[in-house]
Amino acid sequence: MQKARREVAEKIKQVDIVFEVVDARSPESSRNPMLLEMLQQKPIISILNKADLADSARTKAWVAAYQAEGREAIAIDAQHAKRLQQLPQMAEKVLAEKLARKRARGIRNPHVRAMCIGIPNVGKSTILNRLVQKNIAITGNRPGVTKNQQWLKASGNLELLDTPGILWPKFDDQEIGMKLALTGAIADKVFTADEVALWGVGYFQKNYAEVLRKHYGLTDEQMQSRPADIVQLLTKKFAYGEEFDRTAVRFINDVRKGELGRYTLEVPEDRA
Ligand code: GDP
Repeated sequence: MQKARREVAEKIKQVDIVFEVVDARSPESSRNPMLLEMLQQKPIISILNKADLADSARTKAWVAAYQAEGREAIAIDAQHAKRLQQLPQMAEKVLAEKLARKRARGIRNPHVRAMCIGIPNVGKSTILNRLVQKNIAITGNRPGVTKNQQWLKASGNLELLDTPGILWPKFDDQEIGMKLALTGAIADKVFTADEVALWGVGYFQKNYAEVLRKHYGLTDEQMQSRPADIVQLLTKKFAYGEEFDRTAVRFINDVRKGELGRYTLEVPEDRA
């Protein structure tokens, strides 16, 4: 962890702006709060990725909440990333003052240097590859081009560090762990399928009851049961005997594949 932290801090020193990539299905839980301490005054744009899987009303609420706090944010789906093309302009806007100072000093086309940072599996590499479509590496003896590290040219004057900064997922809080596990952001061995499914069923009962009911053909009465009873019910429905674990894994996979529709496991108000 210390090493990862040092590496990221070292890279941050070299950029003008940080693109923080998070999972739109759990924007707060899929970020490492330490990044904010590591920023060294560098501005940040939060990219809520995998918006195609997330609850769009909640995604809008998150973007609005971040913007209200003065942090730029954008929701995208890196796999079909038209909106991603707004990033270079957004970065220039955030850095407007700094760029104006450079221009005043006679630098005609000042570069904007950025890097993607985030926990594993949020889509950093996908975004990076999308932004630097032609993958043109900028080499040569330029200050800031460290050995073994390259800047890749994106559109406009944007240059990106060729490797993303990787932070570890942080889940001191059990609930954060559950969200990360349910979306597949952390390895399945961290928590048992059983506990993740129980938490997930409970969350869907409270927040997305209708899709849960429909997808598994549950009655209104069954929907009122405790999560453990629902898992038991489903096990019977699936004819899995006593294999509750198998039901848990199936439910988790259904959620991850989006079979229960789009979902987001937290809302901005949860933070208070
Ligand atoms: P990294 O570890 O942060 O670099 O994540 P990757 O770029 O390797 O992406 C992790 C997985 O998420 C891959 O299977 C990607 O195809 C997938 N992925 C990335 N972006 C999106 C997205 O916007 N939507 C969906 N549905 N999947 C995505």
